[in-house]
Amino acid sequence: MNKIKDIKLFLFDMDGTLYLGDRLYDFTIELLDTIKKTGGRYMFMTNNSSRSVADYIKKLDRLGIKSDYEDFITSSQATGYYLNKHYKGKTLYVCGTESLKEELRRGGFEITEDLDKVDLIVMGFDTELTFKKLHDVSYLLLTRKDIPYIATNPDYVCPTEFGSVPDCGSVCDMLYNVSGRRPIFIGKPSKLMPELAMEKAGYTREQTAVIGDRIYTDIKSGLNAGVATILVMSGETTYEILEASEDKPDYVMGSAKELLEILKN
Ligand SMILES: [Mg+2]
Repeated sequence: MNKIKDIKLFLFDMDGTLYLGDRLYDFTIELLDTIKKTGGRYMFMTNNSSRSVADYIKKLDRLGIKSDYEDFITSSQATGYYLNKHYKGKTLYVCGTESLKEELRRGGFEITEDLDKVDLIVMGFDTELTFKKLHDVSYLLLTRKDIPYIATNPDYVCPTEFGSVPDCGSVCDMLYNVSGRRPIFIGKPSKLMPELAMEKAGYTREQTAVIGDRIYTDIKSGLNAGVATILVMSGETTYEILEASEDKPDYVMGSAKELLEILKN
């Protein structure tokens, strides 16, 4: 297990780890400053593929955190990275937001709604979902049994002020009922986002940690990528959940404030 003092790249989950909804935790700014001052680097890791990095930069700015494009690893970016590795130059059908399409175009992909020209299906957290898109994906899955089928993130729900709305995983379940097929999911808990972060930032597994409040997404992605894992109890996970989980993080902290104390001493 890596010592926290040896960690140089900190991959942060955001909600429940650095803030809760629209309320920034009181240690967050000092923690991020301290990581920089002690020669480290941090990145923000999110499974939400409906919003662009520009949207997140604005959100963090409202909370008082200055950030830029290079500070983020999103499931949209990771999907572009995965597609470039395995399906370079292919034409995509994207059931996702304009933000996701923009991200994939930036990654060099052509996107079409002409179903005869599609090589591969990409599902995102589509807050602009229409029945036409469900119809088109059903058609592709049923008429092209071997068509590659990729999804940005497996989350079933996305939190809102009143509870939650269906996320990418739930829509993929609807399509499973139609086609019997499940996509390859790119976001947490897969190892792809931590791997992309290490590649972009130029750090090794031994120098990297994932910090988050969910065991089955954040911690699991760190375990899958073979990096250090820090579970914070400032969000969704209770001690009962931790106790019952087969996946054990390397470190458990009340909040990321404990990480700040370690880095300062
Ligand atoms: Mg979280």
